[in-house]
Amino acid sequence: MSRVHPAGPMHADVLPEEHPVGPADDLNALEPTVWPRSARREEGVVTVGGVDVRDLAREYGTPLYVYDEEDVRSRAKEYVAAFHDGSVHYAGKAFLCTALAKWLNEEGLGLDVCSGGELAVALAAGFPTERITLHGSNKSSAEIAKALEVGVGRIVLDSYEEIARVGYLAQQMGVRAKVMVRVTTGVEAHTHEFIATAHDDQKFGFSRSSGAALEAVRRVLELKQLELVGLHSHIGSQIFEVDGFQVAAHRLAELLVAIRDEHGIELPELDLGGGYGIAYVPGEEPHDPKSIADGLREIVARECRAYELAMPRLTVEPGRAIVGPGGVTLYEVGTVKDVEGLRTYVSVDGGMSDNLRTALYGAEYTAALASRSSEAPPMLSRLVGKHCESGDIVVRDVWFPEDLAAGDLVAVAATGAYCRSMASNYNFVPKPAVVAVRDGRSRVIIRRESAEDLLRLDAEVEA
Ligand SMILES: *Cc1c(COP(=O)(O)O)cnc(C)c1O
Repeated sequence: MSRVHPAGPMHADVLPEEHPVGPADDLNALEPTVWPRSARREEGVVTVGGVDVRDLAREYGTPLYVYDEEDVRSRAKEYVAAFHDGSVHYAGKAFLCTALAKWLNEEGLGLDVCSGGELAVALAAGFPTERITLHGSNKSSAEIAKALEVGVGRIVLDSYEEIARVGYLAQQMGVRAKVMVRVTTGVEAHTHEFIATAHDDQKFGFSRSSGAALEAVRRVLELKQLELVGLHSHIGSQIFEVDGFQVAAHRLAELLVAIRDEHGIELPELDLGGGYGIAYVPGEEPHDPKSIADGLREIVARECRAYELAMPRLTVEPGRAIVGPGGVTLYEVGTVKDVEGLRTYVSVDGGMSDNLRTALYGAEYTAALASRSSEAPPMLSRLVGKHCESGDIVVRDVWFPEDLAAGDLVAVAATGAYCRSMASNYNFVPKPAVVAVRDGRSRVIIRRESAEDLLRLDAEVEA
């Protein structure tokens, strides 16, 4: 889906323009696969969780991240139900705050963290530490020590140095750590495709094909402070097809056999990572959690039968699929600039500082005029931000009604994952507030940054 040429850092604008999809029949329609489950248009105005977006903008300002709490909780519930015989760990990097951690704890999920900062949020939320897994491709000794101190449930090992480091720290602290070995299966999945070649060339995990994964297992088994509970694999993100998981599961099963044959042990757990795709634009059709669970269970069971292995307990780690669809970003339109013969540039009061994904990897989004409906004819637009970069694009091609004007509110759908968590203060723009809506009520779960927040770390500001 990415429009950036894979061969190199070509400037996107010199590539031939892909012909944008034509306007929808009804610009006011809210495609249910893309918008939060509670999103409606009532007398022309978009409501989420029963709350009018104009009220949200008035009360909390814009830009504003809005989460449909019931949407997030219901998706979490569906994953837990689908994997009733395994575990669902939410990948905290997609979006994390204490409110969300509490919702997910209440729904029975575990939590993946990949830094000391994410772990601190989990602890601040009182998240049960035995259901936390520590990830990361270069965990510091301080991060590992903290994780051991609070007793996280699993640490996923990513390098030989880390095996030694975790082993040493566990010994120093007099604890035994449950660990998994992260395997690079040679499968790298992308949106709508997967590649089973040239994939070992990346920084995560131990390569299966080179024998590094088996060597890592040997080294872990030599350290009595480490209890090896299983293997981990994460093949990519925004995946719609099961083929990649199938090949990865097959290769992991082969490793389980090799481990059994060499060491006489059957590892009890298999963590298959996350990466389940969501609909950003109409026409994308994600699988539901039940069909994902049934598919994965069947693949692993088949491999285990073939090799006479006991079925391991499965863990999955969805991030985007839990929080992505329930989040929308509200912006206020500031300028509408018609670039003669080309398109109309609609500028909003945020941009790449609150949503980096379009600039970073050509992500696609759906946007709509939210504060009113309009019967005006469609105009081909580009939704852009207020930052000092021409790549500061929120939605590359979007059809808005021709009468769109300054002061209108625009909503961008499916911004719940990897937007707030990747937000920056570029141009000293404060990060937006995050609001949860449910049953006609709203509340701030992360407050908006202020000018004082922006200056707080400046060591030479006069008090
Ligand atoms: C990012 C990540 C995930 C979650 O990916 P999503 O695409 O958000 O589902 C899960 N596991 C690991 C190890 C990850 O790095």
